[in-house]
Amino acid sequence: MTPPSEPPNADAPRAASPRRPQTRLRRILRRIFASLGAALLGAFLGIVGLWLFRPFPEECLRRPPPQSILLTDRNGEPLRVFLGEDGTFSLWEPIDAFGEWLPNALIAAEDKRFRSHCGIDPLALMRAIRQNTTNLRRISGASTISTQVIRLAQPRPRVMSTKVAELFLATQMERFHTKDEILEQYLNRAPFGGNFIGAEAAARRYFGKRARDLTLAEAALLAGLPQSPTRHRPDIHPESALKRRAYVLSRMLDLGYIDEAQHAEALDAPLPDRLLPLPFEAPHFCNAVLRLTGPAMPRGEVRTTLDLDLQRSVETALREHIASLHGIHGGAVLVLDTGTREVLAWAGSPDFRDDAHAGQFDVLLAWRSPGSALKTFAYALALEQGRITPATALPDLPRQYGDFAPGNFDGTHRGIVSARNALVLSLNAPALHLVARCGTDAFLDALEAFGIAAMPERSRKRNGLGAVIGNSEVRPLDLVSAYARLAGRVLDPPDAPSPLPVSPAAAWIVLDMISGDERVAVETGLSENAARRRTAWKTGTSAGFRDAWTVAVTPSYTLGVWLGNPDGRPSPGLVGIEAAAPLAFRILGNLPPRRDAPEWFERPAQVEGRQVCAASGLRPGPYCSILADTWAISNVTAQTVCGVHRPDADGDGRPEEVWPPAIQAFRTASSARGTVSSKPVILVPAPNAVLHAAPVDAGGGTLPLRARGTGRLWWFLDGEFIGEAPATEPILWSPTPGRHVLRCCNADGAYSEISFEYLDSASRQ
Ligand SMILES: [Zn+2]
Repeated sequence: MTPPSEPPNADAPRAASPRRPQTRLRRILRRIFASLGAALLGAFLGIVGLWLFRPFPEECLRRPPPQSILLTDRNGEPLRVFLGEDGTFSLWEPIDAFGEWLPNALIAAEDKRFRSHCGIDPLALMRAIRQNTTNLRRISGASTISTQVIRLAQPRPRVMSTKVAELFLATQMERFHTKDEILEQYLNRAPFGGNFIGAEAAARRYFGKRARDLTLAEAALLAGLPQSPTRHRPDIHPESALKRRAYVLSRMLDLGYIDEAQHAEALDAPLPDRLLPLPFEAPHFCNAVLRLTGPAMPRGEVRTTLDLDLQRSVETALREHIASLHGIHGGAVLVLDTGTREVLAWAGSPDFRDDAHAGQFDVLLAWRSPGSALKTFAYALALEQGRITPATALPDLPRQYGDFAPGNFDGTHRGIVSARNALVLSLNAPALHLVARCGTDAFLDALEAFGIAAMPERSRKRNGLGAVIGNSEVRPLDLVSAYARLAGRVLDPPDAPSPLPVSPAAAWIVLDMISGDERVAVETGLSENAARRRTAWKTGTSAGFRDAWTVAVTPSYTLGVWLGNPDGRPSPGLVGIEAAAPLAFRILGNLPPRRDAPEWFERPAQVEGRQVCAASGLRPGPYCSILADTWAISNVTAQTVCGVHRPDADGDGRPEEVWPPAIQAFRTASSARGTVSSKPVILVPAPNAVLHAAPVDAGGGTLPLRARGTGRLWWFLDGEFIGEAPATEPILWSPTPGRHVLRCCNADGAYSEISFEYLDSASRQ
């Protein structure tokens, strides 16, 4: 067997046989290069593919820096800033809120080809690489606004790989976002020095204005800051800030954003020399907004209903009024829009910064005794139930209700009194009589419907009736809101569904009962009030002289004034009508008139005029001789005919007047002894006494003050509360030299007053 002959061309490989290993190597190398090239191409295509199709990680742009809350008044005036959770001041704004100059100033300062590049500025990048060939780590000179946005949104360690990743992400971001969106990200994330982030916060701290209102010079200054926020801060390094601003302005000039004249003018503008304090207006209101809204509070700028001008005038009036009073250090005022119940002014104390008198304590949210201020709702309910008209005669007699026998504030009873007068004079007995007839539960339910937290079920039986004369506690905010609801009910259409247990007709009549210019003039003694707009108003004074109230209502405004001492110390001046009403009318006089609101509430169609017996307030019978006009609710108000006036029985030619036995007995008794009064009488010291210490007294003695009276007695010396004790016990007073005025009050507010003089040993010699 011979081996098969060589193929004819077999010599060709043979001829090449000495170069064979090289060829193989080359082939291998070629293959390697080919596959490397393919791999590189693949990688490149992969990257391009990724760049093209992989979504940009949007979540990094969606998470803003921790945002502050800026509360503003209804016109956008800043009230108060609550910083973000990291203690920085930052307010995110859309791009069109940065005004005319700032975006261009920033482009001039940071990235002049921003509008045309793709996220990376190739010219700047090449220059940076050329300048830094020995040290490739430093390519940060090529950073654009886009790469900085990536860095600000997702801070990474400053190493080469992350810088490359930032370049990649920046170009990717450019695909999915407009230039304005990227600029908005930058303006809201960049540091501007201090504890504030973003241009809006910086504009407010340096210039006290919104970024949209910045001048060219101001915008140029801010635009220069992010590069080195501390080094260029105008309040710390004015020289450096000035240089940086000039640089930004010259770039703006070069880029054609401004002309020579604008450039020259901006160069001359002064620098801010300090940071402006954050706003601090209506502090109690802002705290309450935050507290009452809770976690639902949105971040950023939140517009409230407050009216800052009105708030300031209310604060001034309250402070001045408190300063004019003796022994009263606390007060609060709330002004609501009657129609919408929006808060217009809120002062929880005369001075938030007055620590000595608990200025930070917000009385509008505290539980206080309302005195007589809830009586209005009892009368509204009685009107609604058809039980009374304003003219109805109500009994004003001493009467025991369970374990309490409430008297009236002035210590007297009147026998009978019209519903209108009983409400205006805040008489206790008629109000209790009404609530007993309407039902205690119905009354408490009505209060609850008006937003006044009713007492717990277990206290209802024991104290429910007493709520109407102030034996309960309410928050001033709720009380004033309840009056606004009552007035708002009159503005409702007659058949509008309402959670309130009172119709527009009943609400209108009860407001009519507590209104009238003549009432203001007579009861406050302020003659200028006679010309004032018609106002419904109610006062309240708590037992023991701790709270004085006035709530006033017009179709435009509902206003509440509370005066008292934050520590609950009584003062003889704490009588609603004396202390609180003048302030309420002063504030009411300062409120701007509203063109869209009527002078007074329009009378609902269900309210009808009715003639009644002037004495009983009931439908006149054949023997009633004197009639009066009053208001009634059609088809609701009872049609009871007067039974007081009866046929002539004794033959004197006049009808008999026969009242129910209790009233009859009271009238007979009072006509026998004049008026009934239980006011205390001071026994020691005697009126106008001149006292001095006994010669053997080495000092430190006390003088027992005594009075004749009933129940507990409250003692005031020169307007200051000095103690309370049962009428059977004296109060011990450590004498101070001089003339003194001593007042002793009982729980109903009836008091007597004397003056006397105490001489010390020096003045006797
Ligand atoms: Zn009559």
